[in-house]
Amino acid sequence: MTIPHAPTRAELIALRQRYRLERERRVQPDGAGQYRATDAEFSYYAADPYTEVAEREPVHDTVDVAVIGGGFGGILAGARMRQEGVERIRIIDKGGDFGGTWYWNRYPGIHCDIESHVYLPMLDETGYVPEWKYSPGEEIRRHAVRIARKFNLYEDALFSTSVTSLTWDEASETWIVATDRGDVFRATYVVTATGTLSEPKLPGIPGIEDFKGHTFHTSRWDYAYTGGTPDGGMTGLAHKRVGIVGTGATGIQVVPMLAEDAGHVYVFQRTPSTVDVRANRRTTADDVGAGRDGWARERRENYLRIVSGEPVEEDLVADQWTRSAGLLEKLLPSFRRHGDRTAFEAAYEIADAAKMNELRARVEETVTDPDTAAKLKPWYRYACKRPTFSDKYYPAFNRANVTLVDTADTHGIERITEHGVVVAGTSYELDCLIFATGFSAGTSGISSGNLPVHGRGGTQLLHARAQQGPRTLHGFTSNGFPNLIQMGSLHNASSVNFTHILDEQAVHAAALVAAAEAKSALVEPSRASEDAWIAALAEGAPDHEWFHAECTPGYYNREGRGRPNGPTAYPHGAVAFHELLQRWREGAVTEILQTRTSPQPR
Ligand code: NDP
Repeated sequence: MTIPHAPTRAELIALRQRYRLERERRVQPDGAGQYRATDAEFSYYAADPYTEVAEREPVHDTVDVAVIGGGFGGILAGARMRQEGVERIRIIDKGGDFGGTWYWNRYPGIHCDIESHVYLPMLDETGYVPEWKYSPGEEIRRHAVRIARKFNLYEDALFSTSVTSLTWDEASETWIVATDRGDVFRATYVVTATGTLSEPKLPGIPGIEDFKGHTFHTSRWDYAYTGGTPDGGMTGLAHKRVGIVGTGATGIQVVPMLAEDAGHVYVFQRTPSTVDVRANRRTTADDVGAGRDGWARERRENYLRIVSGEPVEEDLVADQWTRSAGLLEKLLPSFRRHGDRTAFEAAYEIADAAKMNELRARVEETVTDPDTAAKLKPWYRYACKRPTFSDKYYPAFNRANVTLVDTADTHGIERITEHGVVVAGTSYELDCLIFATGFSAGTSGISSGNLPVHGRGGTQLLHARAQQGPRTLHGFTSNGFPNLIQMGSLHNASSVNFTHILDEQAVHAAALVAAAEAKSALVEPSRASEDAWIAALAEGAPDHEWFHAECTPGYYNREGRGRPNGPTAYPHGAVAFHELLQRWREGAVTEILQTRTSPQPR
């Protein structure tokens, strides 16, 4: 079989060289230190533009479960606990409602680029059928609210509230939860579902504080200024010069919308994304298994198997994620074992180059100005950066009111002034400057230190991790921190369809609580079971460090510094991990239960 756009050997060698040079152009000496947090003088960028904070009395009561985070992780934890019969569940979120990432991100053009029939959780349970193959953000946000209502999660919820500390009270064997609204309450169990990309970040460009025009981050879109909605109609931008910094998954969705409505758009690009075919369309009866019971679960499992590199008889979703699934191996370890690794890597490199050639050809076929097309071409291996999908992004550059400003040679924007942006000595005067510059990776909640957790004997979770490295059983629980259940990606398995991962985690968290309730016990793994889990993570862990070390910088490789040391994920992939968890729940869950010394609070 001939692979379209397949490279010759000479081309492969030239590509390697080109990728190396393009990487070197972009590596910043200060790595992730180049960014600024949206706190202190920049907290304006993180303020909630959607909900006014309502006055309320602080709460001082006792609940069964406190869930920190009201995104899909927290909602699913709440829903799965309700199914297990848990009564008092309190979800706490900084935002004014449920939705998490879909609460905050409402920028024009927002859609999920994972198919909605597999991305939206609990479709079987709610009977909801998404309207589109790729849902707009508002449909997803409304679905989050739908699940929260169905499982009665509003009842005890606290919004516009951040948890400030968690302290284990040895005498009552409960957690004391304190918040920034003066709440101090007790919870028998705490679940942390604080997300991985939730703190917006800004580039540390000199002069960023000097800009006198209007400015905001894409995750806090200012419709009061732009007018319109996520569907467009931003009349406030009609005669405005708008600059947008960033061309990641967010930037590529926003640019076509700005192009339609703004006077002029300057797109400040440092590294171009890969922008693959999107082909959105209305849901068909086939997509939803003609309404058969359990269709959503079946489709979601099928998708997980494909993107995890497992065999399937049929590709039900059949989109660019599943078609390129063979090229996700470096991002998501899978069960596959390749006999001859050298031969496998050689074939992988050819397939990778063919895919990247196809994506570069897509730019050329669409963008009419050759200079602009050249700048939009990505020069790195597939999945070095998060793949993106749009049929509107490249055509936007054929419009007279859109200018691409490439900043790779100057390591990003040089300077920001009162009136605009300077790149390579040229000033671009702007009325509005929008940052599509992403989020701090892995810094929300307990891993950032913003939320101190004090376990048995006052031990601080982060101090313990700094001394011994992270220690968990299956990523969920840690010795010394009874009844604390952590959701997220540490010591766990991941997928591009993260809501599926979160749902499996929620099922597991609910099962832990149910098992402890049944025996009136505490959930706390022994040191020995943590040791065994850490050993299991290390066993057969694939070495993809070299791949990420050669990638262009970004949050996938800690801005060019490689992946973190030590095993951080289950090496055999999400499908195998979910099977392992299920077997463990059926056989060994009681091993994690410890005797209570005080009666359970009720
Ligand atoms: P990213 O971190 O992916 O992108 C940030 C962008 O800002 C990059 O293009 C970066 O360039 C650029 N940038 C940063 N600093 C500078 C600078 N000083 N000068 C010029 N450019 C700069 O953020 P996103 O918000 O786009 O996406 C974050 C994540 O959110 C995605 O990876 C994805 O996981 C998720 N997402 C998912 C969507 C979905 O449909 N499922 C949609 C949108 C987002 P460089 O690459 O050179 O660093």
